[in-house]
Amino acid sequence: MIVAPLTASQAVQADSRADPLVDSRVDSVPGSQIKPLDALGSQIEALVKFVRAHPRLQVLTGAGVSTGSGIPDYRDSEGAWKRKPPVSHQDFVADPATRRRYWARSLLGWPQMASAAPNAAHAALARLEQAGRVRQLVTQNVDGLHARAGSSQVLELHGSIHHVGCMDCKAAYPRATVQTGLAAANPRFAALQGAAAPDGDADLEDSFEDFVIPACPACGGLLKPDVVFFGDSVPRDRLAGAWEALAQSDALLVVGSSLMVYSGYRFCLKAAEMGKPVAAINFGRTRADKLFALKVESACGPALQGLLERLDQG
Ligand SMILES: [Zn+2]
Repeated sequence: MIVAPLTASQAVQADSRADPLVDSRVDSVPGSQIKPLDALGSQIEALVKFVRAHPRLQVLTGAGVSTGSGIPDYRDSEGAWKRKPPVSHQDFVADPATRRRYWARSLLGWPQMASAAPNAAHAALARLEQAGRVRQLVTQNVDGLHARAGSSQVLELHGSIHHVGCMDCKAAYPRATVQTGLAAANPRFAALQGAAAPDGDADLEDSFEDFVIPACPACGGLLKPDVVFFGDSVPRDRLAGAWEALAQSDALLVVGSSLMVYSGYRFCLKAAEMGKPVAAINFGRTRADKLFALKVESACGPALQGLLERLDQG
């Protein structure tokens, strides 16, 4: 399909009615206007110039930053689903069978998520912040690895898999504590194995009928990981903090995100609206290719390390 490229303001108008965490297929938007440069070296050189020209960055990261830590992502390099879409907020809240399946798979996926370590991309972004170049790091990841790598100005846009909240009395619990209760109540499931899946999920198909869903120890209410599930919205005050930081930044740098989810894509729209240029490091197509001033087609770790080395050289 050939579609005429939109201007930034047209794109903002076209997307302003969309729901925050709702999927958009890449083939529904215009293709890239950015022609990738030939060699990674010259792309990094352009990125160095971009970072020097825009000393205060807001950084937006996605799943591509954490794949190097063994945490799988949902999308292929064309931005299409490569596995079943994640659980939706509506199904989780309304349907006990969905909650049984979610928690059973989470019981197996959590230990793998909890033991994941930051990789070179997380480390490089922490160093970029320490060098005074990052005003705020917004992440769509829920794994907590940016903070563990040493970044301090982190906004977890979609929350954290390390925390669980009660939807009734609002009590909060560490995920590790919930894990102990899950395993004790479900010994048959605790003995199973499942490969790591995105967001602390694991690949497990079974009959989940006999799985015991955890309840809030304080009130018996419905427990939910403190993450924004698919179909839910990012809390308003969290988003307001992100826009404030973007307003105080000179540019937006997207790292490792296909931006297929609107809550990430709208950072590029907002930057365009504010007149801030956007650069991206991503291997493969993104939903915002047409909005980038610069795109580095690369895995995140090598590109960021290359950037830091050149910046260190002065
Ligand atoms: Zn409760």
